[in-house]
Amino acid sequence: MQIKSAEFVVSNSDVSKCPKDRIPEYAFIGRSNVGKSSLINMLTNRKSLAKTSGRPGKTQLINHFLINKTWFLVDLPGYGYARVSKSAKKTFQKFITEYFSKREQLISAFVLVDIRHNPQPVDLEFMTWLGEHSIPFSIIFTKADKLKPMAIENHINSYRDILLETWEEMPNYFVTSSSKEIGKDELLQYIDDTNSN
Ligand code: GDP
Repeated sequence: MQIKSAEFVVSNSDVSKCPKDRIPEYAFIGRSNVGKSSLINMLTNRKSLAKTSGRPGKTQLINHFLINKTWFLVDLPGYGYARVSKSAKKTFQKFITEYFSKREQLISAFVLVDIRHNPQPVDLEFMTWLGEHSIPFSIIFTKADKLKPMAIENHINSYRDILLETWEEMPNYFVTSSSKEIGKDELLQYIDDTNSN
């Protein structure tokens, strides 16, 4: 798929106000600073469609972008930011739970994890939650340029080992780097293949 158009549509803090259109959507989520904005900018060939913040925890809204006038790319807030208070975490959980429970047009979530880090409880818990709620997702490993191929392999294997303790098989995954434009074609192809429009 070539991305010919990418338009910002709306930001919401209320799931019920998200676009009513029955357009397929794909949601991107991960811990703050994982490289989500950079990945969205890479996918859409824009320098700053999603803002790369440098200020983790700042973007707390659901952002809808219309791509090629046929599908929504949804930028969800980053989670697991240590400096966020307990009550803010609760509000966030409610918000995300509502988003995933209510958006019938959601085709798949993409859970972003930094390829350099060992599996983190917050990411694993989130994947388990998605699984328990039958919400399809793929893992996107980010910042692959930071590791040598062997180390990438090792990190994916440690993810696989941990996930296979609870999952029957390793979820679908992509290895990406926004700075080196790795994984872009594969991701767009996947979206093309799963998007009925
Ligand atoms: P977000 O908070 O998840 O939206 O993350 P950002 O996209 O703002 O990126 C956080 C930091 O990681 C920034 O300093 C980016 O320059 C850096 N970053 C993001 N993607 C990559 C990548 O693919 N490779 C490298 N080396 N750095 C990246």
